[in-house]
Amino acid sequence: MAKSMGKSNSILIVDDETVNIMALVDILRNDYTLYTERDGKNCLDTAARLQPDLILLDILMPEMNGFEVMENLQKDSRTKDIPIIFVTGLSQSDDEVRGFSLGAVDYISKPFSAQVVKMRVQHQMKILGLIREIQTLSVTDPLTGIGNRRYFNTLVHQEWERAKRNFTPISFMLLDIDDFKQFNDSFGHLNGDIALQSVAHIISSEITRSSDKIARWGGEEFAIILPDTDTTGARRVSENIRTAVENAEIPIDDGEVKHATVSIGIHTHIPERCDEYSASNFVSDADKALFRAKRTGKNRVCAFNDMGDNQQSL
Ligand code: GH3
Ligand code: MG
Ligand code: MG
Repeated sequence: MAKSMGKSNSILIVDDETVNIMALVDILRNDYTLYTERDGKNCLDTAARLQPDLILLDILMPEMNGFEVMENLQKDSRTKDIPIIFVTGLSQSDDEVRGFSLGAVDYISKPFSAQVVKMRVQHQMKILGLIREIQTLSVTDPLTGIGNRRYFNTLVHQEWERAKRNFTPISFMLLDIDDFKQFNDSFGHLNGDIALQSVAHIISSEITRSSDKIARWGGEEFAIILPDTDTTGARRVSENIRTAVENAEIPIDDGEVKHATVSIGIHTHIPERCDEYSASNFVSDADKALFRAKRTGKNRVCAFNDMGDNQQSL
């Protein structure tokens, strides 16, 4: 595998003939980071490992031809979404149809013109940029800039499965701002929005491990997932967040500062392979703990594991 350095978007060029590789490298080298491979097998390995933004794939290659490479790229979850432009000397429309039906986004015929190669690649990179922007927006809460509930639902299930595989504890926190309706009623909805942004910021600064993730669960509720964290750890992080919010000065638009408090429900569990207890049960039990924190006075942390059987319905 050969690589040229420095540009943001990357392309894997696959062709068994050096002269073709050199021509494509020459056309694209100023604008993209390029990787090159000379056969299908290495293409599959490099694509999976380096996740290029785009693959330029020759069809006529010995051993594994471009169509077979495409089929294999589609089968691998690491490579199935990488767009492919196939490069072919074949001019029969059957081959074009076959390439498209295997998931290619475009094709370039040999002998190729430098301008056409540039434009087609540019066009695909533009589409890719838009897709990524939409993907990011679809999982981001616009007010606070943190992940939204859709993002979190996916994450909880992923982390739950990981904890199950590794037999490690996973902790979940649901946090709700206390008396927030009153905050809005007293200081106005726009200041309520500022308070939500402040709380999101405080939580983000209190969670330090890169694997810990926060999201806006809805309205004035936030969710935090702490993989590989036991009850003691979850309790410590929750108390830190609770205290940090309590002590924070929230600047409102008339130049004053106001205060807010939060209630937090936490739950920790080590999921087992044949456990009937699901990620949804887990989240719902953290919610019960939050409910209890509210019912027993607010501005406090309550762990589901501390609730006795007769109290768990509280
Ligand atoms: P509790 O202590 O029991 O949680 O009481 P609460 O007043 O916080 O809870 P309640 O569910 O009665 O009210 C939630 C409030 O959160 C009402 C709603 O106006 C406010 N809220 C939800 N989303 C937003 C938002 O995006 N911006 C603003 N400013 N307020 C919001
Ligand atoms: Mg509330
Ligand atoms: Mg609420």
